[in-house]
Amino acid sequence: MLSEMFDDIRFCPVCTTDWQGKPIPEKDKHLYSKGATHYSRLIGVEISEKYDGISYWECPDCHTRWDRFTGKKIVTSQARRIAIQSREAERKVRYIGASDAQVNWGSNDDPRGLLEEGKTYTLLRKEVHTWHMKYYLKEFPDKKFNSVSFEEVKEERNE
Ligand SMILES: [Zn+2]
Repeated sequence: MLSEMFDDIRFCPVCTTDWQGKPIPEKDKHLYSKGATHYSRLIGVEISEKYDGISYWECPDCHTRWDRFTGKKIVTSQARRIAIQSREAERKVRYIGASDAQVNWGSNDDPRGLLEEGKTYTLLRKEVHTWHMKYYLKEFPDKKFNSVSFEEVKEERNE
């Protein structure tokens, strides 16, 4: 899914932090790029006016950014940005139903008919946009849903 030149880089060339996250469970490996064994801590950033997809990668610690295509370090302006966050954390969300307006806002996929109201799903990742948030679910990795159709499910921590 995120097959990039940055897949081969493990340590930040600027601050030397380790970009490797937790190991990807065997059953979820098909959701990530081929050969990926660990989650990446790199943050994918999307600029919606520019390109529909990730435009650059950002180091989670020093916040240095690199162009996705050229690999060059970039200095960003105050562009409207979308950060794709926490591919590492597994969170559960409960689907609470959707209206036409919620689905159409930000061109989301329609959860109606796909998801069951009141049922709990696993959050694969979220994209934070300026005015709304999109959820990607592990059960439907190719679909994007408006976060307002869900409530977060609190789980007991295992520390
Ligand atoms: Zn860094």
